[in-house]
Amino acid sequence: MIGQRSATSDASGAHFAFTDRWGGVSAVPFAELNLGGAVGDDPDAVGTNRELAAKSLGLDPERVVWMNQVHGNDVAEVDGPWTTPVTPPVDGLVTAVRGLALAVLTADCVPVLLADPVAGVVAAAHAGRPGMIAGIVPAAVDAMESLGADPTRIVARTGPAVCGRCYEVPEEMRADVAAVEPAAYAETSWGTPAVDVVAGVHAQLERLGVRDRERSPVCTRESADHFSYRRDRTTGRLAGYVWLD
Ligand SMILES: [Zn+2]
Repeated sequence: MIGQRSATSDASGAHFAFTDRWGGVSAVPFAELNLGGAVGDDPDAVGTNRELAAKSLGLDPERVVWMNQVHGNDVAEVDGPWTTPVTPPVDGLVTAVRGLALAVLTADCVPVLLADPVAGVVAAAHAGRPGMIAGIVPAAVDAMESLGADPTRIVARTGPAVCGRCYEVPEEMRADVAAVEPAAYAETSWGTPAVDVVAGVHAQLERLGVRDRERSPVCTRESADHFSYRRDRTTGRLAGYVWLD
C-alpha cells in the first residue's frame, strides 16, 4: 500500500514533497513509513521505507541527502550524499546540484523547503521552536543567496507541523519566543499559552523578501495520518523533500 503524498511541482522544475505515515514497513509505534533513523526503529525497516518513499516520488534513494538534526542553525552545502561515516549535525542543507534531493525529518517541527529555480538552488531546513528562534530559516536563505539565489524568486513551502492551537508551552517560554519572533505568540484551543512555529517561520521568510509562500493545512498533533512527537512521544518521523529537475 502506498500512502498519500503531498507533492507539488511547477513549470520551473521545482519539486516539493511531504510524506504522511502510511505506506511503509515499520511496526507500531513507528507504523508505517517512519523515515527517521534515530528514533529506535529497526534500521532495516527505515532503509526500506526510505527506498519506498524515494521511489514513490520518482527519486533515486541514493540521491537523497539527510541530516543529523540538532535544533541548531547550521547549514551545510552539499553536492552529493555524505561521504563521511557520520552524518554532520546540521539543521539545514543547501545545494546547487539539480536532481539531488534534500530531506528534512520532522514530527511536529516545521519542515521548510526552499527553491530558486532560476538560480538552480534549493534548501531544506528543520525549524522547531529552538531552531526558529536560533535563526535556521534566515541561515538557509543566506546560504542560498551565497549560491546565487534571490529571495524574491524563492518558492517556499512548509509541511505538516504542530499548529499554534496545539503547541502548549509555559508562559515564560511563550514570552521568550515572542520577544524574538512576535508572530509566534499563540494560545491553545483550551486557552493556555502556546507558540505557533509555522507563523514564526513565515514571518521570517516574509521579512527576508520571500513572497511565494504556502503552508500545509495539516496539524500533525491533530492528524492520525501523521507522526506527532507531542502526541505520542515515541513515534516515527515524516520527511520533506525538495529538488530541481
Ligand atoms: Zn493543532
